[in-house]
Amino acid sequence: MSDIDEKKDALIATARRCFDLRLQTNAGGNLSVRLESQDAILIKPSGVGFNECSRDNLQIVHMDGRIEPSPHKPSKDLGFHLGLYRTRKDIRAIVHCHSPWATGYASAGVEIPCLTVQSIEKIGRLPLIPLSPKGGPQTEHEISPVFSDPGIVAAVLANHGTIGVGPSLMSAQYLAEIIEETAHVAYLRDVLAAVHGKHGIGLPRFGTAEGANADMA
Ligand SMILES: [Zn+2]
Repeated sequence: MSDIDEKKDALIATARRCFDLRLQTNAGGNLSVRLESQDAILIKPSGVGFNECSRDNLQIVHMDGRIEPSPHKPSKDLGFHLGLYRTRKDIRAIVHCHSPWATGYASAGVEIPCLTVQSIEKIGRLPLIPLSPKGGPQTEHEISPVFSDPGIVAAVLANHGTIGVGPSLMSAQYLAEIIEETAHVAYLRDVLAAVHGKHGIGLPRFGTAEGANADMA
């Protein structure tokens, strides 16, 4: 199978998983992956749902911005996807979705805390990126500088959604899932802590038992 068909099938499977998990409804959000065979990416076009991706409707866009002829419109998110790939060579795939628990935090202007050992290990920190200075959706000018820190693998966009990046589509998708799970856990923690009058709840400092043991040594 060619590199392009292999990446198309991976993107279709990842998009379907994201849709089936209800992390993205209708035609919002976007996902993309770098091609190995050329200096270009594969990306979902505008107006196509995560459950509607097919080998026929995915677009190829070169890193210099040239879009291969297609009957579809390029995604509004294309600029920030290209910006992220240009910023970090280790970013090979991006999943951007509008998952509701995380976007709720993002709309409240509250950074999602990484509370669990898994979110600490896999993500560490989830920066909250404000809207563009004109009040519209975040662009590469707001997003790329945050990801110029090689330790950042995920972020939340104010009033908008989430971004997970990784070496493969599935690794970026896993982050999209952990972000949403983390927001859900954080909400429940905050509500239960308020109801039970609990303050100063202890948090893990490490994502793994190995990390904790190493610190004791
Ligand atoms: Zn979006």
